[in-house]
Amino acid sequence: MALLQISEPGGKPTTPAHRIAVGIDLGTTNSLVSASCGAGVEVLPDASGNYLLPSVVAYASDTDPVVGSVARAQSTKDPKNTISSVKRLLGRALSEVEQAPQFKQYEFDAERGDGAPAIVTAAGVKDPIQVSADILQTLVYQAEHSLKAKLEGAVITVPAYFNDAQRQQTKDAAKLIGLNVLRLLNEPTAAAVAYGLDSKEQGTVVVFDLGGGTFDVSLLRLQSGVFEVLATGGDTALGGDDFDHAIVDWIKQQAGFQVLSSTDEAKLLHYATSMKHQLSNSEEVSIEFNGWSGSLSASDFRDITEALVKRTILTCRRVLRDAQLEVEAIDNIVMVGGSTRMPVVRQAVEKFFGKAPLTDIDPDKVVAIGAGIQADVLIGNKSADDFLLLDVTPLSLGIETMGELVEKIIPRNTTIPVAKAQEFTTFKDGQTAMALHVVQGERELVSDCRSLARFELRDIPPMVAGAAKIRVTFQVDADGLLSVMAEELSTGTKAEIQVKPSYGLNADAIEEMLKVSHENAKADMEIRALREAQIEAKQLIDAINSAREIDGDLLEASEARQIDNAIEHLASLIASGTSVQIHESTEELNRISSLFAARRMDLHIGEALKGESIDKVEQ
Ligand code: ADP
Ligand code: MG
Repeated sequence: MALLQISEPGGKPTTPAHRIAVGIDLGTTNSLVSASCGAGVEVLPDASGNYLLPSVVAYASDTDPVVGSVARAQSTKDPKNTISSVKRLLGRALSEVEQAPQFKQYEFDAERGDGAPAIVTAAGVKDPIQVSADILQTLVYQAEHSLKAKLEGAVITVPAYFNDAQRQQTKDAAKLIGLNVLRLLNEPTAAAVAYGLDSKEQGTVVVFDLGGGTFDVSLLRLQSGVFEVLATGGDTALGGDDFDHAIVDWIKQQAGFQVLSSTDEAKLLHYATSMKHQLSNSEEVSIEFNGWSGSLSASDFRDITEALVKRTILTCRRVLRDAQLEVEAIDNIVMVGGSTRMPVVRQAVEKFFGKAPLTDIDPDKVVAIGAGIQADVLIGNKSADDFLLLDVTPLSLGIETMGELVEKIIPRNTTIPVAKAQEFTTFKDGQTAMALHVVQGERELVSDCRSLARFELRDIPPMVAGAAKIRVTFQVDADGLLSVMAEELSTGTKAEIQVKPSYGLNADAIEEMLKVSHENAKADMEIRALREAQIEAKQLIDAINSAREIDGDLLEASEARQIDNAIEHLASLIASGTSVQIHESTEELNRISSLFAARRMDLHIGEALKGESIDKVEQ
């Protein structure tokens, strides 16, 4: 979905007292909190001056949980009660995570009804929402201590590919500690905001995020200060850790180490990480280990990590292909994650895109800073001229109904991802197929909206008009992809289609559509009322005509004439009357034919009762 800039509802032109809102990067490995403090947005450190809070929580006993570096330090000693990487568990079912290697050490409590994974610890059973809430609580304390003020809200970042359930559980975690979520922001969008890229008129941004264990690439399109996610890609098993292991393997080979004790393995890995960090600032590092000494040069490092770097570039290529863009179309590349400090990575990215990536902001802090900037705007510390970035539906999404009218299912400005359903029915007796036409826009008539897609639902069992129940579900995912599903509820027959509503839509077109809809609001309302009256009238005439085919002999000649006249009058009004006239005549025809309807009812109930026991009828 294209994103739309909107000003804050009821935003005041003057700013009263500065209100405190923070940005939170709730990470898999580390979490950070930031806030606007005078000059700009800064990451807030804890009491010891650390700004990275390891996303690790220890539940060793029934006391308060321990969060951060202390918990991480004890994780090898007490792995069962120390939960790390909880972000990978959010919004997932137990069956999905039980097998994952990084959660091997846990005992999951399978008895929770909703299928959500919950970990058995010494302090009781903990679900991913609770663990995330404990991390958030620590960040809130850290921020309130550092700012000496009470927080009024937070913007929390989530990966662009997070689905509805994962986003909802992130919000639930905040709710659990009473933290007001101003909004969730996609991590790559936050990184682009940190670099001020949202202030440009338009552009295309690649966010390259290489962390410790994961790699994410997002391609964003910017229009009038608003971002849309065009494509995402990555590798959940590629990160800085792999570079560490490459160094370990190289040392073992150089030194001829065959088998190492597990303590030596751990030590060697630790050295390797430290060598990797040093190589980000120097040309060569030396090492002494178990009686062997040697040195690793930047060019050796390049050779041994070439395959890993290549994998990141292949992912970039794939993301560009998904978005059907050439490298030349990319205006900016934003580097995120500690591993983008490696010169080998930066150089490969620069070579592939043909321009230098943005690296001025600390790659650990960039997401948190973007979230903090956004939080400051959302809490109202900026003037009404500042626009808010929102991942919203810029125009309403709906379906064509009888009379070429549009029934809106997802109204414009709805925050995505979102799912909404509505029930529809058949128009004609015995109708076995339904044509579904998905449209976008604010106008009442289909012809005044953008047509997005058409599809058909077939195999509806024949029933009288209005008896079938067809549920139509509209779902817009985090990337703005719309799925429309129609399901006939008695048989479960389904049909589905997917479209990208933002395709071919730009900010100017959206603005124009909104302008036209405002100008035509009154006329649109009138035409809608007229069409609805016409449909209602037609339906009544059809119903009476088909009843007369079956039970015409229930009518006396004078009654039949009276009904004929009323139908003729109504038919002429359908062609040229106003909605009020049609409505009144429909009521009149209804009244005239009510005796006929009552007689038919008596007749058919009598038939239905024949041969049935009273019990059965009363059921
Ligand atoms: P995550 O997103 O998984 O939480 P981070 O973005 O914090 O991870 O990145 C952690 C990774 O960054 C680790 O593999 C770490 O070794 C690496 N890293 C941190 N600083 C440097 C550096 N100066 N040079 C190379 N790699 C670094
Ligand atoms: Mg990260």
